[in-house]
Amino acid sequence: MPLAIDLHLHTTESDGMLEPAALLRSVALVGLDYFAVSDHDTLAAYERHAAAFAPHAGRLVTGVEVSTSMDATEVHILGYNVGLGCAALTAILGSRSELRRQRAEKIIAKLNASGISISVEEVLRKTTGSIIGRPHIARVLVERGFAIDNDDAFTRFIGASGSAYVALSNLTAQQAIETIRECGGIAVLAHPGRNGVDVFIEELRRCGLQGIEAFSPSHTTHEAERFRALAQSMNLVITAGSDFHQPTASHPRPGVEIDEADFAPFLELLHK
Ligand code: AMP
Ligand code: MN
Ligand code: MN
Ligand code: MN
Repeated sequence: MPLAIDLHLHTTESDGMLEPAALLRSVALVGLDYFAVSDHDTLAAYERHAAAFAPHAGRLVTGVEVSTSMDATEVHILGYNVGLGCAALTAILGSRSELRRQRAEKIIAKLNASGISISVEEVLRKTTGSIIGRPHIARVLVERGFAIDNDDAFTRFIGASGSAYVALSNLTAQQAIETIRECGGIAVLAHPGRNGVDVFIEELRRCGLQGIEAFSPSHTTHEAERFRALAQSMNLVITAGSDFHQPTASHPRPGVEIDEADFAPFLELLHK
């Protein structure tokens, strides 16, 4: 029996376009069996909108997506079921908002130096929570005509190979995994098929990684099957998430299918 779940949703508290209440309406419409908001580097959706989440308690898994790096590659670690007030995680996340602001300023300075005259204030006006992300910079680049669309902005300017790229921080994946686990959470590698991060899976497992997001629209059916089999062979749990930021033509609503049997190890870990 397939389940419809989505353990990877973003809200306006990071770089998503839907406020928590609107996202929850969409989740309710789809009738997901399980879901998690996993905003970038913040638990603000849960902290600031607790009442909106309360009716969903049975299907809701608390989540966060922590940006880390390994050998200069961006690695996103999902932390599920983390304690909201856990000091070790609060300490890491607490510094991320300022760190992201400083990084945005560095990116904008690089853009300015190459004649692209966008300002920090313009970018800040695009943010809706305490988190500044590159998508906010991309929106200004597109609006001001410096890029054709989001992908163009990332490819030419702000993505890892772009001319104005600045890495976020030297927080290691190991530090994130250890902190998530210290806070009672489950550490899962996000979209392992993206930007070559799958080469790190074995090393991440030695660092305490417990699962991989095998089912993601970032993956072809073939890749998803490969990650599912890899997870099983490595005794890692399997999750599914769409990395939903807003309704798009190809993914108008949250939700990814996963076989009940494939998701069972995650639920077992969750209820341990
Ligand atoms: P940041 O959190 O500031 O490092 O920005 C990364 C975010 O940009 C991720 O959440 C991605 O979902 C989003 N993003 C959108 N388009 C791209 C792209 N073409 N390449 C990389 N990230 C992208
Ligand atoms: Mn994002
Ligand atoms: Mn990600
Ligand atoms: Mn994401």
